[in-house]
Amino acid sequence: VFGGIEIAPPIEVFNLTAQYNEDNHPQKVNLGVGAYRTDEGKPWVLPVVRTVEAQMATDVTLNHEYLPVAGMPDFRLAALRLLLGEDSPAIVENRVEGVQAIGGTGAIRLCADFCKKMLGYDSMYTSSPTWGNHLGIFKSCGYSNVKQYRYWDAQNRTIDFNGMMEDLNAAPEKTVVILHGCCHNPTGVNPTEEQLKEIGDLVERKKFMLLVDEAYQGFASGNLEQDGNTVRYFVKRGFEFFVSQSFSKNFGLYNERTGNLAIICANKDAKLRVKSQMEMVVRTTWSNSPNHGARIVASVLNNPAYYAEWKEHVKTMSDRIKMMREMLFQKLKSLGTPGKWDHIIEQKGMFSFTGLNPAQVDILMKKYHIYLLKNGRINMCALTTSNMEYVANAIHAAVTEC
Ligand code: PLP
Repeated sequence: VFGGIEIAPPIEVFNLTAQYNEDNHPQKVNLGVGAYRTDEGKPWVLPVVRTVEAQMATDVTLNHEYLPVAGMPDFRLAALRLLLGEDSPAIVENRVEGVQAIGGTGAIRLCADFCKKMLGYDSMYTSSPTWGNHLGIFKSCGYSNVKQYRYWDAQNRTIDFNGMMEDLNAAPEKTVVILHGCCHNPTGVNPTEEQLKEIGDLVERKKFMLLVDEAYQGFASGNLEQDGNTVRYFVKRGFEFFVSQSFSKNFGLYNERTGNLAIICANKDAKLRVKSQMEMVVRTTWSNSPNHGARIVASVLNNPAYYAEWKEHVKTMSDRIKMMREMLFQKLKSLGTPGKWDHIIEQKGMFSFTGLNPAQVDILMKKYHIYLLKNGRINMCALTTSNMEYVANAIHAAVTEC
């Protein structure tokens, strides 16, 4: 029965890590990894998460009963407040719903399923390049028109804004359009305020459904409010739209699959309708969401002292990323590496879209045991003060060679 099944292509990031793990070279570096690393190259369990987990372990009032289908109420509300701001009109007017999901991925999946089944959408546009799973999720939800709008001007290492507007203008009216809320993955470049306004005008005119993918709130500026500005701008304009929130990165809860889908509606009645149908989607997909990560996030966000501590942790992560950007930039400059490298310090978030071409990436992998995505994306916090010299010299050599 199974013998004729075609082997699926490997998933690049996971494949890279497998290759890296098998490599015995003493100076190997994995710049492909999609998670935060400390300056010792280790994963970081945030101290406030450890504190809350220790309390949870001894709290006899907690149990393992099912959560409600829409997820843990304290978590969902706290997530919405974090995203939109406590005094957001959408919260005050009781017209925003949060539905807990299996990470940011699950939130995107819920949105895709819901728009297909309840609203009849069959078209989705996301940026080129983007986090690859956007395409996969919408395809597997049965969308027949899954496309990418121009986003990246590789020559000038900035947004190809005219290309983006042209492509979106040509998209069918009933299209779900994905934007990255901050820290665009993989380019690290997001629209300016003026560009956002133009995008908003186009979305309004074409009646697109927006899905803002907010997977890195806090990582761009170290400031959670500032990183929520794209979403808050669309709320201010009175749009009805979706936001997928991930707590994988800003809480370091990667394997706890902690996410939320925010649905901003025109009024409370619409919100209740959406929620009831969204529960049907959850029920038939994973029935109800897991507890552990959501309880951690709710416990931190709903406790002023823990919240303050967590904000410091987010700042620590964002500052370390900025420091690595600065160090790499200075190092390449001092080596006189051919080309312009300002984009390394200008891009925001965990990733840098280096502009290294496939041949250069190949040299880094084969000759220097430095692993990175074929498109040249590197995780800035996979760099450390100890491997910086080695990586910068290798980049210099690869760029000089071809
Ligand atoms: N969206 C973007 C842009 C991402 O980079 C990621 C993870 O890398 C996700 C969504 C998914 O996040 P999660 O791991 O919470 O599912």
